[in-house]
Amino acid sequence: MSFDLQDLYQDVILDHSRSPRNFRELEEARSAMGNNPMCGDRFTVYLDLDETGKVADISFLGNGCAISTASASMMTELIKGKSRHEVSDLFDHFHKMCTSEVPPDGANIDAEDQEKLMVLSGVREYPMRVKCATLAWHTMRAALDGAEAATTE
Ligand code: ZN
Repeated sequence: MSFDLQDLYQDVILDHSRSPRNFRELEEARSAMGNNPMCGDRFTVYLDLDETGKVADISFLGNGCAISTASASMMTELIKGKSRHEVSDLFDHFHKMCTSEVPPDGANIDAEDQEKLMVLSGVREYPMRVKCATLAWHTMRAALDGAEAATTE
């Protein structure tokens, strides 16, 4: 990765962590709480599905470090309007990007979405940060599955 690109990625993360998108409560929505005790990140993710099972709206509230907040914020933008199946593909793709040595091929992921996820996957170099970056995603999946609490395992 070039330094320019790294700077750009850092700018995106800072921007999202300073002014998180969809940072509000959704009334009468599904919700789940996520907790990453290693860093102190705590989020509640709210999720509303429409009658076809697509994510009509998604939001989050809570406190976390810059990485976890930026990841949650970017996630809300990525997930909105997606079907359950697409959300699951995105989750798996992002999880692999953050944790595996071999990057996933992403054949089933929209190119623009992949690019956004790339910004966050730099955490792969910092194992302690992976849980920060994936916390909101695990929490979102718990909300989708109807569980009340998410783990970061
Ligand atoms: Zn964190």
